[in-house]
Amino acid sequence: MPSALPRVGFGYDVHRLVEGRPLILGGVEIPSPKGLDGHSDADVVLHALADALLGAAALGDIGRHFPNTDPRYKGISSLILLGHVADLLRRHRFAVVNADITLLLEAPRIAPHADRMRATIARALDITPEQVSVKATTGEGMGFVGTGEGAAAYAAVLLMSS
Ligand code: MG
Repeated sequence: MPSALPRVGFGYDVHRLVEGRPLILGGVEIPSPKGLDGHSDADVVLHALADALLGAAALGDIGRHFPNTDPRYKGISSLILLGHVADLLRRHRFAVVNADITLLLEAPRIAPHADRMRATIARALDITPEQVSVKATTGEGMGFVGTGEGAAAYAAVLLMSS
């Protein structure tokens, strides 16, 4: 039984950028010569968000709920995984107050796609786009983000009991 106090959660994820994969971020496919590699669709934004939500509820992490050794999750849309997390939170009587996500990616530019990501995430969580923030920054040419080797995402969320 959750307490009446709000609960904060934090998530982080990283995936490698490779040729021959679609780039899917925040549930939205973005035109790009490279995409993220992983067992699922490798949506680094949704993975960080799902981990933040599970963390706020102290319900483990996505690796525990959706093992990357399980063939059921091979190539799966991470929106489906996020939907499972949303169901789990509802069963534990948690409601999402807001989510704030920062994506680290050198290219392409994310700003033109951010509002579609917010709407897509809001739909999966059954909340409004105003409760979802998607921000992006580059690595300024430094490190694995800056050289285009991969992308990372951070997410913070607040839950309250419903
Ligand atoms: Mg991941």
